[in-house]
Amino acid sequence: MRFDQFALDDRLLAALTALDYQTPTPVQAEAIPALLDGRDVMAGAQTGTGKTAAFLLPMLQRLLTTPANKQPRALVLAPTRELAQQVASNARQLAANTELKITAVYGGTNLGPQIDLVKPGVDLLVATPGRLLDLIGKRVISLKQVAMVVFDEADRILDLGFKEEIRQVRSQLPKQRQTALFSATFDDSMFEFSKRVLTEPLRLQLNERNSTAAKIEQKLYVIDAERKAEFVAHLIAKQQWPQLIAFTRTKIGADELASALCANGINAASIHGDKTQSARDKVLAEFKQGQLCALIATDVAARGIDIQGLDVVINYDLPYIAEDYVHRIGRCGRAGREGLALSLLCPGEEYLLEEIEAVIGDRLGQQWYPGFEPDLTKEPLDDPRNSRAAQKRRAKKRGRGGRTGNRRG
Ligand code: AMP
Repeated sequence: MRFDQFALDDRLLAALTALDYQTPTPVQAEAIPALLDGRDVMAGAQTGTGKTAAFLLPMLQRLLTTPANKQPRALVLAPTRELAQQVASNARQLAANTELKITAVYGGTNLGPQIDLVKPGVDLLVATPGRLLDLIGKRVISLKQVAMVVFDEADRILDLGFKEEIRQVRSQLPKQRQTALFSATFDDSMFEFSKRVLTEPLRLQLNERNSTAAKIEQKLYVIDAERKAEFVAHLIAKQQWPQLIAFTRTKIGADELASALCANGINAASIHGDKTQSARDKVLAEFKQGQLCALIATDVAARGIDIQGLDVVINYDLPYIAEDYVHRIGRCGRAGREGLALSLLCPGEEYLLEEIEAVIGDRLGQQWYPGFEPDLTKEPLDDPRNSRAAQKRRAKKRGRGGRTGNRRG
């Protein structure tokens, strides 16, 4: 299959050639023709599969073939500023040979400059939900001309508590429109949501539900919490990884790990929600230019980040939301590259592992790393979520029997 087999404008095809996108990825092959036909689409495609271009190309095609208006005719909703910036930047690359105006608006920055950005007119608006409502409230944006809407990383938009914002955004959208939902993971609440926003959609599930990328090798080491930073520093030095992302659960944890790695002579920096947007942009730019070895991030900050050629992701802390595991490890092995996802499990956190294994439908073999074996004489971490009652509740929620027992031995 080739891109020129789709009914795409020559200017878009030329941009694809310039970007060296030679053949459509599976999600592109399935979603592009349906979206060009005007159908609603719900696509469960894992991160790194080319889902952004899968919705942007039909969107740009529609913009090129319908009359311009000062107000946006296409809207992409994204959960985080980083993803909004990235989608807009990808859209600008694809629309490089056109006059289309593409703007990203997101929270965490002053409203004033963003009002100035959208005032001259926008064809494609990429927005986080809260900031979009701010601009609608100021009457600088109207959604009345929007003919196509995409919810990108739709599950996370809902997870992040944007339900009310989404309801308000939907109430502003024309009833007659094309809508698509894209997400790496789909749970039951997403299906419920899809029933409300989509009309007779084409449902595409390109991988098993919530599967992890096949080319990513997944390893899991059991290690004591207080030795984790030392272990990561050891691995970076030993394996000579040029670059990696490590995920922590907390902002403080991200800062602490970055400091510990720096103290070991490793060029590391953290990004999280307490940093200003300009600080986050700077760290990301340095990482993308290869000036930083280790990017330490919380889940929200790292959402949607596309780093070309990243081979290693470390789950320094296992995520509390099991689906985040899929998103995290999707940062490496993108567009068919091989990747390594390494997770650190502290004794007492097995309940988090069980949830991850339930989501990915696979078991992750637990290993000990020579010299960093856990001290089994110590009490495991005391976490209320690890109580038998909590485990049972979660197992019930998943609709399956919980696994118990110590699998470390
Ligand atoms: P995404 O899943 O949209 O974040 O895309 C992951 C990466 O794949 C991005 O770096 C894209 O630029 C790249 N990509 C998307 N589509 C193609 C394609 N057809 N051929 C080669 N690379 C692609």
